[in-house]
Amino acid sequence: MTKKVLGIYESGSTHWVGNAFHVRTMFPTHRLTHQAVSPFLLLDYAGPTEFPATERPRGVGEHPHRGFETVTIVYQGKVAHRDSGGNPGVVGPGDVQWMTAASGVVHEEYQEQEFARTGGTLEMVQLWVNLPKARKMAPPAYQTLLSEQIPAVQLGGGAGFARIIAGEWEGEQGPARTFTPVHLYDLRLREGGTADLRLPSGGNTLLFLLRGSVTLNGAHKLEGEAAIAPLGREGDDVSIAVHEDSLLLVLSGAPIEEPIAAYGPFVMNTQRELLQAMEDYRAGKMGHLMAAR
Ligand code: MN
Repeated sequence: MTKKVLGIYESGSTHWVGNAFHVRTMFPTHRLTHQAVSPFLLLDYAGPTEFPATERPRGVGEHPHRGFETVTIVYQGKVAHRDSGGNPGVVGPGDVQWMTAASGVVHEEYQEQEFARTGGTLEMVQLWVNLPKARKMAPPAYQTLLSEQIPAVQLGGGAGFARIIAGEWEGEQGPARTFTPVHLYDLRLREGGTADLRLPSGGNTLLFLLRGSVTLNGAHKLEGEAAIAPLGREGDDVSIAVHEDSLLLVLSGAPIEEPIAAYGPFVMNTQRELLQAMEDYRAGKMGHLMAAR
């Protein structure tokens, strides 16, 4: 059975995160509410942005997170990261950083030094994945998923290939460890291809077109830069026709049916827990960044 396309939404407005990431927030929005996208919480797309060379890397300084995971997928350029768990890392093209903030992490996100020095194009996605109540106060964790660890599956019909970051597709398992069922596929689509995509049924599934042009189920056109289509929970396939080389991110997961209380970098279940998070951060209980950058 074919999945229904529930709508196509674009993001008209951009904003800066720090001075390094020029993003469009694809959700949450008034249409794509927490309930419609659960277990995902937020999707920011930093479309290709050209940066001139600089000796002072641009970025977002020290800030906390609690209660969920941040997933950073880099398409172009390089991002450097440090956190209170002592996890340094550089995320380059094709790499994914999967940070489980859980009970609390303090970190910074910068453009990588050498990238900043030469200048260039940065393109990346940051996705927030919710944690179930039972995991929100678990110890933090950190996974670096290098490009070569992420398996690729050829799509039929000359449509390109899919990189399996998390979950399973066509018998191929993605390397990311998740706490609830989450599937995340990075599709590199080729002009002129057509394919039937087998997708998980029962959960929330969204197709996010970073850029390019495709038609879904012969009727729904996704094109331009940054357009997202939520799909119905029923059914397990979608047909795709690719009109030009395109980047498509497939997100699918079992909804977490628990209340959400969100404030800035904290996502908990109750207001009381949010207040506790702010208090714990102020008291230094989420740790600190050690060495000077
Ligand atoms: Mn952050």
